[in-house]
Amino acid sequence: MIQATDKASIRNAVNRFGPAPGAQAMLSLEMQAAQLAIERGLYITWRSPSTRHECTRVGPGCKCFCGHFFQDHDINKKTNPCQACVCKRFQFIPQRPEEVGEWWLPRRKEFNINTYRVKCKCNHTHEEHNPNTQSCVLCPCYRFESNFLCLVCDKHWEEHEVFYEMEWERRAEGRTTGQEFLPLAQDRDIQEAVFNNPRPPVQFVRPQQKKGKVGKIMKK
Ligand SMILES: [Zn+2]
Ligand SMILES: [Zn+2]
Ligand SMILES: [Zn+2]
Ligand SMILES: [Zn+2]
Ligand SMILES: [Zn+2]
Repeated sequence: MIQATDKASIRNAVNRFGPAPGAQAMLSLEMQAAQLAIERGLYITWRSPSTRHECTRVGPGCKCFCGHFFQDHDINKKTNPCQACVCKRFQFIPQRPEEVGEWWLPRRKEFNINTYRVKCKCNHTHEEHNPNTQSCVLCPCYRFESNFLCLVCDKHWEEHEVFYEMEWERRAEGRTTGQEFLPLAQDRDIQEAVFNNPRPPVQFVRPQQKKGKVGKIMKK
């Protein structure tokens, strides 16, 4: 997820200041997802079927369009329905502004990660749309169309799909598996700096249950 345009300067920044809290949170979720994938041999990614690029690794802390987390969905069923609402299948949705390129947003005083949600072109959030029909419950909009682009591939949310692949399937397609699937695997020194940072990594906490304690979540 880190846009490595100039690797030397990223390396420097990470070594001196550690990654920005938002980037650290995103990378921690991806690391958790990758480690679980390697353990289970089931690799879950979010990407556009039309490109080779993988936009994110999907794991327990990822958000679904329905507003619940991946881990609230029953992965043992073929359609992995949500166990907390009517949602019939997991659909990845970005949960941080950095994931849709809004890096400046968390610096605003009134910004609250607990209430932040990405939006449709109708200006209502994904949680204000029916997870199964994708129609908006507040206006005549009949299908969620993202008013944002994916940070990695510059495509709209609706151009992406969640892929579930076994290790051998990925190998056959020439996609990364094992240690190579870990975030920043191509840049081992940055990976080391990010994940062996002296600051403790961000733990996965359900944000909506911790009211008004964003600071604590980021530091813990
Ligand atoms: Zn769902
Ligand atoms: Zn749900
Ligand atoms: Zn809409
Ligand atoms: Zn709407
Ligand atoms: Zn993408």
